Amino acid sequence: MANTARLVAVSKTKPSNDISALYDIGQRHFGENYVQEILAKVPELPSDINWHFIGHLQSQKVKQLIEGVPNLYVLETLDSKKLADKLNKTLQGLERNPLNVYLQVNTSDEDSKSGVSADYVPELFLYVKENCPYLKVLGLMTIGAPGDISCFDKLVSCRREICEAAGLDINDLELSMGMSGDFEEAIRKGSTSVRVGSIIFGARQYPTISVA
Ligand SMILES: *Cc1c(COP(=O)(O)O)cnc(C)c1O
Repeated sequence: MANTARLVAVSKTKPSNDISALYDIGQRHFGENYVQEILAKVPELPSDINWHFIGHLQSQKVKQLIEGVPNLYVLETLDSKKLADKLNKTLQGLERNPLNVYLQVNTSDEDSKSGVSADYVPELFLYVKENCPYLKVLGLMTIGAPGDISCFDKLVSCRREICEAAGLDINDLELSMGMSGDFEEAIRKGSTSVRVGSIIFGARQYPTISVA
């Protein structure tokens, strides 16, 4: 049987109207990168949207994100014990627990990309499992280097390693990988959740950055 994957529509920089249009034809999973932007959109949109936070999350914004997005489905970018502790502490006492997370893996060894190294993921996984009762690790996430599909193989082998170490079935952990340019290849490699933006919503216009 062919592998199937969930579609997460990445709506960063796009207006809530665009999200509504997709919602109206049945799409429920949406991804956002910036805390201020998701906080502005959430109250404008239906509460049964499943939001994925896919940007880098700074510790000092954890509380805002948790409180401002009651329908946060998953934080895809957990990449340190410190952030795990901060999230766990913030979630303590809330009724919505546990919060789903993916561990973000840097599969391309580029210093500019966030995520933990493949070698370190099993340690982070066990740390969260043992110390953070209000977090549930749903799976692994990677961005990867554009055009380098070996990044997907790396994420697949990370999952195998964790499942062996923790006594889990492979199907117990999701893989979030694949974007507009490579989602088909990612699904072939075993992705269970693809994050697709520009080919759905059109190219993004970023604010102009002036360089002195
Ligand atoms: C922007 C973004 C995407 C979507 O990228 P497209 O190339 O527009 O599909 C996916 N994942 C992450 C982490 C992103 O920041």
